[in-house]
Amino acid sequence: MTDTPFYRYDIGLLRRTLDELRELTGNDSRCHIHYAVKANSNPLLLKHIKEYGLGMDCVSGGEVKAALNAGFPPSAIVFAGVGKADWEIDLALENDIFCINVESEPELDVIQERAHSLGKKARIAFRVNPDVDAHTHSKITTGVAGNKFGIDLNMLDGIIAKAISMDNIIVDGLHFHIGSQILNLEPFRKLCLRINDIQDSLQGNGFTAGHINVGGGLGIDYTDPDNNPIADFRGYFDIFRNNLELRPGQELHFELGRSIVAQCGQLITKVLYVKKNPLKQFAITDAGMTDLIRPALYGAYHRIDNLSNPDGKLQVYDVVGPICESSDTFGKDRELPEIRRGDLLAIKSAGAYGESMASCYNLRTLPRTESLESD
Ligand SMILES: *Cc1c(COP(=O)(O)O)cnc(C)c1O
Repeated sequence: MTDTPFYRYDIGLLRRTLDELRELTGNDSRCHIHYAVKANSNPLLLKHIKEYGLGMDCVSGGEVKAALNAGFPPSAIVFAGVGKADWEIDLALENDIFCINVESEPELDVIQERAHSLGKKARIAFRVNPDVDAHTHSKITTGVAGNKFGIDLNMLDGIIAKAISMDNIIVDGLHFHIGSQILNLEPFRKLCLRINDIQDSLQGNGFTAGHINVGGGLGIDYTDPDNNPIADFRGYFDIFRNNLELRPGQELHFELGRSIVAQCGQLITKVLYVKKNPLKQFAITDAGMTDLIRPALYGAYHRIDNLSNPDGKLQVYDVVGPICESSDTFGKDRELPEIRRGDLLAIKSAGAYGESMASCYNLRTLPRTESLESD
């Protein structure tokens, strides 16, 4: 009997996804893709992602260490985050990573001070809050005025001027990230137009960035993963190609997380009990929100398949975990082939923000992982 719950990764699908990315961007030497490692830092996935020559987008010192340990070149590592601790800034400086994405003036001051005392020059980009609404879930919208991320547009001129005057700072880039699980591409078009305006106005003051980093956020199909296993990379890159006006010599960076790894992962869980009450029928699984928190945290939808009885008669279930929280629910009122004790369920599209967000709440053990080398 398999030891459930566990994450199963389809390496064939991951590689087909990376093939598509390479086909669409590989010929453009100005284009750089960084994998947002917070989506999934499983070393097995990182090994394949590195083979395709992607860089890494990190949001903590731990992730910078993971990137270096996995063998990603420092020159392909970017480091973002609204609250970087001094040791994390030191780590980035000591390893000469490509760029630190700066989110506030006090952070800029600390980077200057740390770089000075380490005898380094810090290459930075300013993360700008472009005030573009991604129209995604409120908890994963990051680019509107009033949320904690980035530098307000009105303060950008001043902070760039200040940074240019600092001895240990090289101002190289402008960084943007408007949110996650974005399926309607219109917000990305708006972002491009906003960046064009920002560049025009900065150029008027004599500043041209060496690179533009447009972040990540491309969404995937959680409702029909079998028929849409690969995200709409073509539409996504076309938006930037057709709308963003890069200046001569300027490089373009992307930070994609979810769209690279979400579909290659499934959470496999065993049904412990089928419990009926007068109103509902519950399938109680051995996986819980500690293994996959997205439904509990964001009300996220994941498709669920009954692997053990795919042709069974359809019935309606709430699929719930064993944790002492009512939000520990994977799906409400799902029509699924009859579920019996011991059946294995697959919770699909769980490769991004699944294993990486797992916890030991209730003193549970972290889920195991297993890989499948399909083609
Ligand atoms: C999380 C994050 C990403 C990746 O977002 P996805 O929606 O997974 O593509 C990119 N850049 C930054 C700064 C992030 O915080």
